[in-house]
Amino acid sequence: MTDIFSVDYARRQDADDPLAGLRREFLIPKHDGDDQAYFCGNSLGLQPRAARAHVEEVLDKWAMEAVEGHFTGQAQWMPYHELVREPLADVVGAQPAEVVAMNSLTANLHLMLVSFYRPTRARPAILMEAGAFPSDRYALESQVRFHGFDPATDLIELQADEADGTISMQAIERAIAEHGPRLALVLWPGVQYRTGQAFDLAEIARLGHAAGAVVGFDLAHAVGNLSLRLHDSGADFAVWCHYKYMNAGPGAVAGCFVHARHARTDRPRFAGWWGHERESRFRMGPEFVPTPGADGWQLSNPPILGLAPLRASLELFSRAGMDALRRRSEHLTGYLEALIRESLSDTLRIVTPGEPQRRGCQLSLRVAGGRERGRALFEFLASRGVLGDWREPDVIRISPAPLYNTHADVLRFARAVEAWRGG
Ligand SMILES: *Cc1c(COP(=O)(O)O)cnc(C)c1O
Repeated sequence: MTDIFSVDYARRQDADDPLAGLRREFLIPKHDGDDQAYFCGNSLGLQPRAARAHVEEVLDKWAMEAVEGHFTGQAQWMPYHELVREPLADVVGAQPAEVVAMNSLTANLHLMLVSFYRPTRARPAILMEAGAFPSDRYALESQVRFHGFDPATDLIELQADEADGTISMQAIERAIAEHGPRLALVLWPGVQYRTGQAFDLAEIARLGHAAGAVVGFDLAHAVGNLSLRLHDSGADFAVWCHYKYMNAGPGAVAGCFVHARHARTDRPRFAGWWGHERESRFRMGPEFVPTPGADGWQLSNPPILGLAPLRASLELFSRAGMDALRRRSEHLTGYLEALIRESLSDTLRIVTPGEPQRRGCQLSLRVAGGRERGRALFEFLASRGVLGDWREPDVIRISPAPLYNTHADVLRFARAVEAWRGG
């Protein structure tokens, strides 16, 4: 029988893997002189080695060309955000004109809500998940109030119906059926940040639309993690950030998707000059004429220094291909799951669904014995250079990122848990 707990086994898995070499394109933080086993890509992805060169290119251009940098030479700033458009569209499964890199996630969510949450007396409500990432809830609640409605009745939060806090498709279907005639918007995550559960986005969009609602997605934990088919999902809009699995650095410029059927919408929007039709933007006229597609929601000329690391990261996604990365991810997370089930199940209970199509790379692990024991294990792991992240009251999240984590990293985690437990 194969011993999946042997270092040889983990090494062989990595050696047989054509994508394992991508790890060398990242700077891995050290622990006592060795690479950390870094499992926090769900929070802040690692730095691509090429990020520095892309940032320096911008600094050099600024030093040497100043204002001319907008219009001259390589990587001109005027169309700079277009350098990321096609690779980004590939990562999320969209048409190039459906995506734009701009602002931050929560700012983009508000901009999308301005256009796509248009409550009326008959149809004022938003359906979301209970226990959503707080920023999303704050944004939605403040939008409900902004329109003069009452979150107590018009912000509907669907409670988890499965053990360990996951939500069944049947529960979503029932909620949409129950509240359908009152729903203006369904806003749903691609991957739930706490449980790691992934959702069937096309099915949620279908159900929401059938009820007459607009459907938007928050893909913060899904982009760069799942093989998304955003255009085909039929979603009206989506937003995400680029500092988690997309590795574009702390507070990186975020992403936004507007489905092609809204490319020339006359819905209201909050406008700025960078969303103006490109050909006539610099006539500086008083009337706003939106440029078609997602670009029409841009407000300002983009932070070029903020976009530079995103280029570096997207080059790696293009090289690997999202489908191949996802296959590698299923192996890595499957290996983590197998190690836990084989010998750590007295210490760790997996909260994340077992079916690969209902999860991304992250496993959320509930530590037996409660908070104190959980904290002790978490700190022991960190002292061994194994970095996960902690969610109150008793959950450790471990996210093997397919661009830079290895089977050897995953084995290090499992062996450290064994060492802690004694055994
Ligand atoms: C990470 C995350 C955010 C963070 O929002 P910012 O505007 O980027 O600070 C918001 N929502 C979800 C679901 C997230 O996972």
